[in-house]
Amino acid sequence: MDTMEHTPALTVLAEDEVLFRDSVREFAERRIRPLVREMDEQAKIPRDLVNDLFDLGVMGIEIPEAYGGAGARFFHAVIAVEELSRVDPSVGVLVDVQNTLVANAVLRWGNDDVKRRYLTKLASSTVGAYALSEAGSGSDAFALTTRAREQGDDYVLTGRKLWITNGNEADVFLVFATINPEAGYRGITAFVVERGFPGFTVGKKEDKLGIRASSTCELIFDECRVPKANVLGEAGKGYKTAIETLNEGRIGIGAQMIGLAAGALDHTIRYTKERKQFGKAIAEFQAVQHQIARAAVDLEAARLTVYNAARLRDAGRPFLTEAAICKIFSSEVAERVSSLAVNLFGGNGFVKEYPVEKLFRDAKIGQIYEGTSNLQLQTIAKQLLG
Ligand SMILES: Cc1cc2nc3c(=O)[nH]c(=O)nc-3n(C[C@H](O)[C@H](O)[C@H](O)COP(=O)(O)OP(=O)(O)OC[C@H]3O[C@@H](n4cnc5c(N)ncnc54)[C@H](O)[C@@H]3O)c2cc1C
Repeated sequence: MDTMEHTPALTVLAEDEVLFRDSVREFAERRIRPLVREMDEQAKIPRDLVNDLFDLGVMGIEIPEAYGGAGARFFHAVIAVEELSRVDPSVGVLVDVQNTLVANAVLRWGNDDVKRRYLTKLASSTVGAYALSEAGSGSDAFALTTRAREQGDDYVLTGRKLWITNGNEADVFLVFATINPEAGYRGITAFVVERGFPGFTVGKKEDKLGIRASSTCELIFDECRVPKANVLGEAGKGYKTAIETLNEGRIGIGAQMIGLAAGALDHTIRYTKERKQFGKAIAEFQAVQHQIARAAVDLEAARLTVYNAARLRDAGRPFLTEAAICKIFSSEVAERVSSLAVNLFGGNGFVKEYPVEKLFRDAKIGQIYEGTSNLQLQTIAKQLLG
């Protein structure tokens, strides 16, 4: 007889996961849905909505209760990002960066002092941002040139970061700079920078194709003094922090993309059952039914890759390849499903009065940030081919 414990199916949620998912879903429908179009047009997430996200308990999901967080698992962050993105992927990415990159890095790499000073804030009221990319270093992230020079008890940072999500809302920024350009990636160091530090300003906000409500900003460091006590982890080991947090963050982007695809599919099912042509609902045409069935196949497969990567991460198992697979596949599925939604809405799919053109625009980012699709393929190929 088989005495081994059986692992439940990936999509079977534990009781606490179901409760959590339902509360985020209810919040997204009630509080976010009515604001989606306005936030997209105004390219802004209102502060009172951000405050409500803190109250909901989704801004410090893995932060231990001792610091005021929810003390939950990475998988809960995936559930939150998926459910929020089902309604608005811009809100999804705000919560994703907060949890899977910023809080995650502070939890994992911060000493007791840094954790005490920043985790409590991140769990209760402070939005975080994660600043690695620069104008000249995107895919080649470790070619960054933002410089940190030692001066007494401080480091002095000079340089510019580009494309920083949550730049507008954040008060705490995880900034990667080099303390020794000659040392290559071994000079990279992570710093916790507060908005009010002298010499630091948030620059221009990008005007984007999609996820328009999510702020994407330039950061400017002009002789910005950062206390040595704000080095996250060890000086010169920032590359490790960046690689390891981004490996996890990618699963969050996978979650954002399956949420987006699920939202697009919901809209499509509803619309095709209502819209009549040739005397019947367009959902009654077999060609349409098959297209919708294909979208469901894609979504189910993508969700399995995301949940698998997240569950591996929570189990402390290797998940590098699985995270890359989930990110590339989910972002392709999001593009396909939202494109189908536009097609099946017909002319209404092409106008802002209906919700799907926005999801189509939002989907594109999944193949770009936190490592482009080519870079994910590179990671997968390296595992396979050595
Ligand atoms: C909306 C938005 C939000 C973002 N948020 C953040 C953030 O919060 N923090 C942050 O640090 N960054 C952020 N980014 C930056 C993002 O991670 C980079 O844009 C991304 O890594 C790609 O870098 P790049 O734009 O310089 O493109 P490039 O690296 O110049 O790539 C251009 C093209 O070349 C391809 N390419 C490059 N190198 C290779 C290679 N070796 N092999 C094959 N193909 C290759 C790429 O796949 C891509 O198709 C954000 C970007 C956007 C647009």
